[in-house]
Amino acid sequence: MNQLSPPATAAIAAINAQTQGVDDDRTQLVAAKCRALVVGYNARWRDQSYKPLAVEQFVQADLVNPDTNSISRTFRIAGKEDVIVTDGSRRLLMDAKTCSQDISDPNAPYWQQLAIEAQPTHYMLIDWLSGLKCDGAVWDVLRKPTIAPKKLTKADRARVCAERSYCDTAMSEDTLAAVPVNDRETLEMYEARLVKDCTTIRPDWYFQRRFLVRLDANILEYARELWQHSQDILATRAIMRKHSKNGDTRLPVRNSGACMLYGSPCVFLGLCSDYDQPNSDRWQRKPTVHSELGPGWGWPRRVDEQPHSLFPNMPTKALLPVRIGHRTSRCRRTRSTLFWEPLAYGLRGMVERTAKGNQLWLHQLTPGKLPAKLRW
Ligand code: SF4
Repeated sequence: MNQLSPPATAAIAAINAQTQGVDDDRTQLVAAKCRALVVGYNARWRDQSYKPLAVEQFVQADLVNPDTNSISRTFRIAGKEDVIVTDGSRRLLMDAKTCSQDISDPNAPYWQQLAIEAQPTHYMLIDWLSGLKCDGAVWDVLRKPTIAPKKLTKADRARVCAERSYCDTAMSEDTLAAVPVNDRETLEMYEARLVKDCTTIRPDWYFQRRFLVRLDANILEYARELWQHSQDILATRAIMRKHSKNGDTRLPVRNSGACMLYGSPCVFLGLCSDYDQPNSDRWQRKPTVHSELGPGWGWPRRVDEQPHSLFPNMPTKALLPVRIGHRTSRCRRTRSTLFWEPLAYGLRGMVERTAKGNQLWLHQLTPGKLPAKLRW
């Protein structure tokens, strides 16, 4: 029933390679969750008709003022598109997301926010400026599991030992030896229960795809906003420069309402509150300013969707990385990162295999001629 496609097998191998030999229960639990989700993802979407054209493609374009057609001399816009796919004659952008919110209800706040989310519009603007218009985007969302290894009753344990299987999956000798003496699911058992949950019991709870449309007028409006933010950033940086000439190292405007915005302290809280200094051992220099875009990209040469969306509410967070010499916190590895890393390796392995299977791979794509300016 859960027969794996070659891409899904590659995804599981990538997760195992990423976590093998790590003697840490938390990492192994994350790996079990990720493997189960790949099995569920494979079952949910294996019949979909999208054909991948390009994977993790770096894209860039001039930053253009749509009202005057003038090009910024300071900024360019850039990003990395997860996957470009075709669906019949349509060329679509596809982005993989994980979340903790409800996605099974079509009216859930997650989908409402997506209607105005800037990220797909940002990529569509870059593609349009590059003469490769997208017909829409597909948001490929995966909800993180909330179930954890559970306690087993005596009857549960007796059944596993008698049937030598659990949640329709045959158990290993190690698990069968552990069950009589443990009152909790082993990781193997937990993984089997999660596979059953996300393949047959609640696949809609875990996996959803949504088609997004952005009209030309929406993209144009976004281009205006982007240009305006670039002007605001330039104005703030000019003030910072003026202050620093007078020996004043003040940060841009701090927004204390945003410091705990995502349920945990902002990574820069210690610096903003003077509890920490950028030259302390808690900070290290980044190998590249923007790890996703690769070397050579960073302020002041880019406006991608993150600083652009950060800047209005968190000017300090958007500009602080420059002020502290592109350092990154040594201590910060969030639960979300811990979860996302192995899964990202897995999904990337899956998409790469799919792309190769379709004989279309990045190096076979010939970039089109980039128009100097966009005709609106
Ligand atoms: S960068 Fe902004 S959000 Fe972060 S701690 Fe400083 S003021 Fe708060």
